[in-house]
Amino acid sequence: MKIIEENSVEINAFKKRIASALPVSLSEGQLEKLYRFMESLKAVNEHINLTRITDDNAFVEKHLLDSLACPLTPADQRIIDVGTGGGFPGIPLAIAYPQKQFVLVDATAKKVKAVEKIAADLGLANIELTAARAEALGKNPAYRERFDAACSRAVAAYGILSELCLPLVRTGGTFYAWKGEKYREEIDAAIDGVETLGGGEIRVSQNLLLKNTAFHVIIQCIKNGRTPAQYPRNYGQIKKKPLC
Ligand code: SAM
Repeated sequence: MKIIEENSVEINAFKKRIASALPVSLSEGQLEKLYRFMESLKAVNEHINLTRITDDNAFVEKHLLDSLACPLTPADQRIIDVGTGGGFPGIPLAIAYPQKQFVLVDATAKKVKAVEKIAADLGLANIELTAARAEALGKNPAYRERFDAACSRAVAAYGILSELCLPLVRTGGTFYAWKGEKYREEIDAAIDGVETLGGGEIRVSQNLLLKNTAFHVIIQCIKNGRTPAQYPRNYGQIKKKPLC
């Protein structure tokens, strides 16, 4: 007899929900990998706190579809996910875009190790994980202005996040940030600082993949100039006095 737990979603229903929400089509193999990622993360989460969302339907909406809403362009080939935590948005994006290269960064080594093992078990060859602080990578020539795009969800207020992410993006590249209802206030408070860091045009698009379960926008900031050498500052300074 088949037993379906109330808070779990059966694989075919899972595939149907994801496939019907996305504007691009994913292969059966990609949908299966997304499902296996969800199952692995929930299993690891019993020992290491990687997510508070364990209900499958909420996981699909708030983690997978929220991550997959990122409007990556063909120019975004090398992408860094800053503060990836349990692998969001980096892992779902790496599954959906196997031709693009992803570097997932988090300051907590324990989380990075756990996500690295999950990614290896899934056979994801286009992901590299790094345990580091983003502001340290922003000073490191191997990472500074080396990415076509940076993406980051649920890490810090937009002003702080801009100083962590924009130094990693090349001129002409894009910084994608997921934000909630107060996004406009966050942008307004940070706008001059964003310009100082080399940020140019800002576009905001609502994540329409979420079925009224949450409100998120993705803020896209196109970098139109180099980041001055004095940025990023150390985290204490960034937090105490965000650029504005
Ligand atoms: N992005 C994931 C998500 O959306 O579920 C995780 C969000 S979690 C609330 C924030 C993560 O950002 C934590 O895992 C934390 O270790 C990481 N983090 C915070 N500041 C950071 C920094 N300066 N550099 C790298 N990681 C950072």
